[in-house]
Amino acid sequence: MTIGGQAPVLIQSMTDTETADVDATVAQVLDLAEAGSEAVRITVNTREAARAVPEIAERLYVRDCRVPLIGDFHFNGHQLLSEYPDCAGALSKYRINPGNVGGEKSYDANFARMIEIACRLDRAVRIGANGGSLDPRLLAQRMEYNRGLPIPLSENEVMEEALAASVLDSARLAENLGLPPDRIVLSAKLSDLQALVRVYLRLAEECSYPLHLGLTEAGPGSMGLIASSAAIAILLEKGIGDTIRVSLTPSPGQSRCQEVVAARQILQALGLRRFSPQIIACPGCGRTGRNLFQDMVQQIKTRLEENFPGWSRDFKGIENLKIAVMGCVVNGPGESRHADIGLSLPGTGENPKAAVYTAGSLHCLLEGDNLADPFIRIVDQYIRTHFLPRP
Ligand code: SF4
Repeated sequence: MTIGGQAPVLIQSMTDTETADVDATVAQVLDLAEAGSEAVRITVNTREAARAVPEIAERLYVRDCRVPLIGDFHFNGHQLLSEYPDCAGALSKYRINPGNVGGEKSYDANFARMIEIACRLDRAVRIGANGGSLDPRLLAQRMEYNRGLPIPLSENEVMEEALAASVLDSARLAENLGLPPDRIVLSAKLSDLQALVRVYLRLAEECSYPLHLGLTEAGPGSMGLIASSAAIAILLEKGIGDTIRVSLTPSPGQSRCQEVVAARQILQALGLRRFSPQIIACPGCGRTGRNLFQDMVQQIKTRLEENFPGWSRDFKGIENLKIAVMGCVVNGPGESRHADIGLSLPGTGENPKAAVYTAGSLHCLLEGDNLADPFIRIVDQYIRTHFLPRP
């Protein structure tokens, strides 16, 4: 797994199972990897969890899943990595939170033990600080220093500065202990979007380590989704960020994979990566029969999404396909011509025929109650004639 430089921005996720529950953790890692997560972080918080890690890795291997596992360590990472060498060996990367490594007397020794293991096993380390667990000693020192300045910074500014300093100081310490810089990734997560952006701008200016992005504790539902998307998009648009995680709180019973789907959509919307064909659909308005249009778009979208995995398996480059489904003559024909395949539905009072465009030209007119079936056949035919089959 190459991180940083010219490598594509990678998607990470994290399990919420008890790691000691091997069955549940393996099942969730498989789901997350299947959804498109390119690395999965698992909590390693207890001896039982550390003992379970090699079996989790082994079972994933048997299931042909090669997704790298990242161990999330807080407080006792130095002990668990030392006492469970098979756990240390089964993980591709260790996430170390500098705020949770140890107190004044034990910090250096605990940190050094984890870095020494990473060096010996040639593992990567993410030094990941978090606004909620910022090293209190460092914050106190910075606050003290700030009070003596002729024009003191605000408390929030000091906190942001301390968060960035926390990961930068630890990264330099790791390098001094022998960890190669290309084995170090940094993150400094906050739940406040604007503060997060400022901290990452600072990190990008002050170092060249790859950066892992994410708005922490973004919350549930659309609130978390929108805040995360905005934060990650602002930074990626500035060329900052090498891996991302969308931290969403699933509703009870909701799939954990939602965060991976969201991460893919962010990267695709920004034009950084392509994962699936793009469906362009207008929102509809007073020119459409509201329910009829929404039903039609939903039907076609569902049918397309059902067929995408099969098309992707059989043909190369399907993810670059653009399909438009539009509500009326106002923008329908134009948007449909710009797509590879477009369906311009008739608005209220228009000729009740739906125009299908392929490669910029009118292909045919469809009519009747069921437009989804013939449209899917046209898409299928288009794919067969415009994309190369996979060997
Ligand atoms: S394309 Fe037509 S139906 Fe769709 S939003 Fe525009 S005007 Fe409304």
